[in-house]
Amino acid sequence: MPDTDGLYLWAPEGTGLWGYANCLWIISGPDAAVIDTPYDGPLTEAMITAARPWLGDRTVRTVVNTHANGDHSFGNHLFPEAEIIATDIEHRHEHHEPTPQEMHALVHNSPPDLPLGRYLRDHFSVFDFTSARLTLPTKTFSGRHTFTVGDKEVELYEVGPAHHVGDLVARIGDVVCTGDVFFHGDHPPHWAGPLQNIINACELVLGFNPRVIIPGHGRPTDQAALEDHLVYLRTVQREVHRCYEAGLSVEKTMDELFQWEDFYPHLGLPERLMIVIAVEFSHLSGSSSPTVLELSTQAAAWSYR
Ligand SMILES: [Zn+2]
Repeated sequence: MPDTDGLYLWAPEGTGLWGYANCLWIISGPDAAVIDTPYDGPLTEAMITAARPWLGDRTVRTVVNTHANGDHSFGNHLFPEAEIIATDIEHRHEHHEPTPQEMHALVHNSPPDLPLGRYLRDHFSVFDFTSARLTLPTKTFSGRHTFTVGDKEVELYEVGPAHHVGDLVARIGDVVCTGDVFFHGDHPPHWAGPLQNIINACELVLGFNPRVIIPGHGRPTDQAALEDHLVYLRTVQREVHRCYEAGLSVEKTMDELFQWEDFYPHLGLPERLMIVIAVEFSHLSGSSSPTVLELSTQAAAWSYR
């Protein structure tokens, strides 16, 4: 957790992994806040223990969830005195997200001989969802919301639908938490889209001229890395639209992308692009988006081909 003047980052190691999101602590004066909480109870307890030397006897009074996915919110229950902030639309959607108990059942009860069951075990059985309780936002906003932590101002900007239905990005001076509109080191799974909204969100972040950019997942970085990621997003967008116009299926579009030997081989979890393609196709055709389970099933099958 490197110190940047009252900012402390819980930055789990590793790319090629699901579920390990960055969480930023803001500790200033008598006050403390956290932007995003980890995926399960034990990880959240470990994070709070790691923060204790800086936190002292302060109470965390504010938690922000950049979006409703469990890997950014399942630790909320360990901050019982905090106001929990999210966007209005994210809050309304959160009732449709799996609870920790449903995630536990999904990971351990899906048939292990089918690709989805195998994939869930391979990537999610490391998490212990048993102690977490779904803890919903207590304050919601649309557009923009500002609050203070000691002498620090935190500005929240709604940027969804993008990665999810109601994403936000958080700006604290020259540091920006992007949530999952930016994955640094892996191919992203964008569940809402369209891609143009994710591109717009990344451009908004660059417009803040930040010194430090904290992605939803992956190492903290700088503007150059986010500019590189924008090139990637625009390339994916152009190719997906080209394949759609040519009448290709989602699977064939994956094949088209990955027949390029240089299609970002340094990024992990390529199967997640299948989710992005399927969601983008649904926007292009004006049809309703496949469910999370349908998208995950397709991606899992592709990963074990
Ligand atoms: Zn995430």
